Amino acid sequence: MIPYGRQHITDDDITAVTEVLRSPFLTQGPVVPQFEQAMAHRVKTGFAVATTNATSALHLACRALDIGPGDRVWTSPNTFVASANVARQCGAEVDFVDIDDQTFNLCMESLADKLAKASKTGELPKAVIPVDFAGHPCDMARLRQLRDHYGFYVIEDASHAIGAFYDGEPVGGLEVSDITVFSFHPVKIITTGEGGMALTRSAELAERLSRLRSHGITRDPERMTHEPDGDWYYQQLQLGYNYRMTELQAALGLSQLQHLDAFIQRRRTLADQYRAALSDTDLTLPVERPQCRSSYHLYVVQTAPKRRRALFDRLRERGIGVNVHYIPVYRQPYYQRLGFRAGHCPRAEAYYQRCVSLPMFPDLTDEDQATVVRTLKESMEGL
Ligand SMILES: *Cc1c(COP(=O)(O)O)cnc(C)c1O
Repeated sequence: MIPYGRQHITDDDITAVTEVLRSPFLTQGPVVPQFEQAMAHRVKTGFAVATTNATSALHLACRALDIGPGDRVWTSPNTFVASANVARQCGAEVDFVDIDDQTFNLCMESLADKLAKASKTGELPKAVIPVDFAGHPCDMARLRQLRDHYGFYVIEDASHAIGAFYDGEPVGGLEVSDITVFSFHPVKIITTGEGGMALTRSAELAERLSRLRSHGITRDPERMTHEPDGDWYYQQLQLGYNYRMTELQAALGLSQLQHLDAFIQRRRTLADQYRAALSDTDLTLPVERPQCRSSYHLYVVQTAPKRRRALFDRLRERGIGVNVHYIPVYRQPYYQRLGFRAGHCPRAEAYYQRCVSLPMFPDLTDEDQATVVRTLKESMEGL
């Protein structure tokens, strides 16, 4: 089976991890801060906080921005469930804004309409979580206008989009986002096994994120309620978590970061080759907006809803590990129980009926890609 995504691990990566295994620290050592600084530098932002995964980073982001009961958080329905769940885990109300039918990212005109209505009824969201779907950045210029007008926080779920650019600026350091989150799950762009990161320009937010990552504990006398009892002393100031990344993971991440440019280059070459090979079919192919440079985490094609199921089945039967991204989040039973109904975001639902993700990862060879294309074309015959 040719999967839809897979990690690429080099001998350098393996050496970096085994060096940590021979070192004094398996966790809370020097490599996590090195990885954080390298990543912050790479995406031109101030601070990075490495975590157990992107879900925990998103959760920390909500907590650091004081999102809680009585608050509203809006996100895209075309995402993995985690983008919405983290707000629920903080006790906030979640709602979904429909997607645009070119990039399948959160539609800024739908967001503008919804914000205008919410501002009349006093139901504005405290935060919006845009998702850079498939690695294609959202319309950040319009989002920034809306943020400036209505004053919500932005938590950018860039789980797909490390290595992407908007207006020449790297995703992770974009001005519009208070906090940006990356995922290092093996199907994503670079990996640490499990792993994630929250990035911010704000020293105060970085301090809150890292304190919440480690039980809500501080060792900084300035932040304590009284003079420390001694050098051993620490204080728990709030209820936090243990969301720390290990040294092994950070060593892998730091080493993987050296390959990021090559990974993106290969993904973009594969995207060009898919485009060239599939432009004579009636599939709808991904587009890239002029001010955006996608990291191509996914390569999603669309077919007629009546043909999608059979096309998917035929491809899987023939060893092509296609996938579907995403079932609109609010169609999950958990969200249905909260009162969301079919038709809440019609464009996200129409898109869901049509989408198929083709294999896309740096180790996909030209020969394997040609096999995917040939099998896809043969499977479309007679459908
Ligand atoms: C993968 C993913 C997540 C969750 O990432 P984990 O590191 O597995 O927690 C969140 N949001 C999106 C859009 C994702 O694709």
